[in-house]
Amino acid sequence: MSEETRVAIVTGAARGIGAGVAERLVQDGFKVAVIDLDEAASQATAEQITAGGGTAIGVGADVSDEASVQAAVDRVAAELGAPTVLINNAGVLRDNLLFKMSVEDWDTVMNVHLRGSFLMARAVQKHMVDAKYGRIVNLSSTSALGNRGQANYSAAKAGLQGFTKTLAIELGKYGVTANAIAPGFIATDMTAATAARVGMDFEEFKKAAATQIPVARVGTPADIAHTASFLVSEGAGFVSGQVIYVAGGPKD
Ligand code: NAP
Repeated sequence: MSEETRVAIVTGAARGIGAGVAERLVQDGFKVAVIDLDEAASQATAEQITAGGGTAIGVGADVSDEASVQAAVDRVAAELGAPTVLINNAGVLRDNLLFKMSVEDWDTVMNVHLRGSFLMARAVQKHMVDAKYGRIVNLSSTSALGNRGQANYSAAKAGLQGFTKTLAIELGKYGVTANAIAPGFIATDMTAATAARVGMDFEEFKKAAATQIPVARVGTPADIAHTASFLVSEGAGFVSGQVIYVAGGPKD
């Protein structure tokens, strides 16, 4: 891979899985754009993950907003170079049982996960096609297989799998691969918020979750970052349209 093709964008990367992936990509030698809603938080993470060396910038953007996405991608291209790696990680939860789920909660989840990944991929693909090289990784979830209280999130995460496979088919001839990572339980603010919502202490919540996971522990952002690092590597060019469950055990 040439020097120019080592610019990566990670969305929702101010914290959690996104920050873990961004940190790993800096270690792998990529120049990384940390995109998140809050520019100051994005910049703080960019500074933190480059404390030991490397290059990262923080960019504030809402992935569900078309103009915001285009401006962010243009800025990354101007400040770091043409982005050829995209990790669509930004996400939100609006859990509720179907009969209590508001239209707003449905739309918010669809907009961040599905519309956001679509807008980001559409804006970045131009740079990838020009470079005849690219790597797209979309964050799905084991919830894509169905999960009580997550009709919106489960539909969005299943939708991302179809989106990923279609990108793989359309963009393959330009040297672009598209894959999805479907994490199981990963300890982040997102799962901490779920514990709080059901009234459980986070440590107890993680312990209970671990009893249901074959490797007997919950996951960490580094577990997802390791898989992302493989998928965006130059050598993974024949792996495309796949959904990799990173869940400490089999899922189907
Ligand atoms: P997290 O800690 O809640 O981080 C998500 C990040 O996305 C936050 O920094 C958030 O910003 C940002 N974000 C939300 N809406 C955005 C928007 N419209 N534009 C830009 N950024 C936005 O979540 P996480 O646990 O790291 O999850 C990361 C991804 O993995 C998500 O797609 C999630 O669905 C998926 N996932 C997580 C798990 C898990 O167990 N944790 C399992 C399966 C899949 P704010 O802080 O400003 O809201």
